[in-house]
Parts: sequence; C-alpha cells; structure tokens
Amino acid sequence: MEKEFYFDVDGVILDFEGAFVDFIRDTYRPELPQDFRLKYWELSKEFPDIDMGEGWEKFVGSERFTKLSLLVSKNTFNKLTNGYPTYLVTNIPQDLIAKRKQNLSRHLLNYSELYCAGHWDFGIKEYPSKSGIINQLHEKGKHIIFLDDHPTNCKEVAANVPGAHVFLMTRLHNQDEADDPCWTRVSGWDELIVCVDEII
Ligand SMILES: [Mg+2]
Repeated sequence: MEKEFYFDVDGVILDFEGAFVDFIRDTYRPELPQDFRLKYWELSKEFPDIDMGEGWEKFVGSERFTKLSLLVSKNTFNKLTNGYPTYLVTNIPQDLIAKRKQNLSRHLLNYSELYCAGHWDFGIKEYPSKSGIINQLHEKGKHIIFLDDHPTNCKEVAANVPGAHVFLMTRLHNQDEADDPCWTRVSGWDELIVCVDEII
C-alpha cells in the first residue's frame, strides 16, 4: 500500500531548541553553558523568570527564526519521502508560515505542503488540530505515517485518525513520558526509517 507522510517540524526536522537556547544566551543569559539543552517543551517552564511573551516575539521576529538547522540530513529526508505525499504540520501561528517556508527552502527538502496545526493554539480561535489537517488531506487506501515529538499531538492523532501509524521521536522534553500503546517511540530518523520499511 502507498504511504502518506505527516511530519511535525520543530524538534523533528528543524532544531528550534538549539537556536532558541542560543537566542536566550545572547539576549538574556550570557552565563548559559554551551551544552545547555531545553528540558521542557513549554518555554515559560524552562525560563520562568524571563518574560516569554516578549522573548518569543523577539525570537520569531529575528533572522534566527528563518535559519534553524536540520535534525535530519536532506538526503535522508528526500530519499524517505521520494514519490509519496509529504505534509509538514507545524505548531506555529499562521502569520509565521512564510518565514517557516523560507527556512525549509534553504534546506532543499521535498515536501508537498506546509500547514499550521497542533495542540498549542497561541490563543488563536479555531487553531486547527493535527488530526483535523490529516483527515482533510488523507487519501483513502494510503498508510498514514505521523511523526511528532509532542505526546499530546501523538495521542490526539491516534485517537482521531483511524489506522494512523503514530511515531513519537524522543527528545529531552519527552524522554520521561510514559510510553503509550498508541505510539511507537523512535530515537531518531534512522529508527523511524526501519519502522516505516516494515509497514507494508
Ligand atoms: Mg515539535
């Protein structure tokens, strides 16, 4: 059976965390060690004494936000997705989509389209869920492969997209999350590719 890919972006394809830590160090915390890594997905939990509303706006308004580096090599990504519909479903506000596309185009990744959706709604009315996007795009008869680093999105898709193959990619912020039968945990892209190859 044919496949259809639905990939999260931050923490899976683009290294949001790495760039954000550099931004925090340069802007607020010169003492932050070079090897500091985010332990929480929610930025205000990680840096409770920094005004994260202000920090977020500064970060996404900067050049850095369009220069996030890859967590997967271009060749690995393009080889995996070659010939299959590949949708990127990113949890950012819609007004940042042009910047996100600019960032992705720097890396020459093959994908069909980019959508905004996810569990974090930024206070935006009717911000879409990931399952909502998938159910709109899905072509009957194709295997849905969904990859995300947030357990909430994985659970939401597993509950609302029948038959989806749901993968949680391990990151520091989710490594202590108890595994759930609705997802398969993968350590990285190599492990994902092995799992995808086993789906017939
Ligand atoms: Mg993510």
